[in-house]
Amino acid sequence: MKYDLNNIFAKILRNEIPCQKVYENDYALAFNDINPQAKIHVLVIPKGPYVNMDDFSQNAKNEEIVGLIRALGEVAKIVGVSTYSEGQGYRYIGNNGPDGGQEVPHLHFHIVGGEPLGRMVSKR
Ligand code: 5GP
Repeated sequence: MKYDLNNIFAKILRNEIPCQKVYENDYALAFNDINPQAKIHVLVIPKGPYVNMDDFSQNAKNEEIVGLIRALGEVAKIVGVSTYSEGQGYRYIGNNGPDGGQEVPHLHFHIVGGEPLGRMVSKR
C-alpha cells in the first residue's frame, strides 16, 4: 500500500500548512476539521505514514496503536464530549477506502459531537 507523501494531512504533520491543534502526543495529532459537520468535529491522526485502517492495523507498532487510541479518549475529554468529563458522548468515525467515503489518504478518526447526531449511516 503506497503512502502519498503529499496528502493534506502529511503536509499538516510537516507544518507546511496550518491546523487548529487540539491535542498531540508522541504518536498522534488532533486538530479541528476545516469543514465541521457538528458543533464539535475534530480529526485524530497517527503521526506515522499510514494510508488507512487496513494499513495501520497490519503495520503500525503497538505503541503507535496505543498512542492513537489514547489520543481519541484524551481529545474527547478536552473538547468536553467524553462521559468522563460530564459530556453527552460523541461519535468516532473512520472512513476507510472508496466505499467508506475516505477522501484524505492518511488514516484519521473523526470525533463528532456537541449535539445529538441521529442515525448512524446514511447513503448519499
Ligand atoms: P474523510 O472523508 O477522508 O474521512 O475526511 C477528510 C476530512 O478532512 C473532511 O472532514 C475534511 O473536511 C477534512 N479536511 C480536508 N482538508 C483539510 C484541511 O486542510 N484541514 C483540516 N483541518 N481538515 C481538512
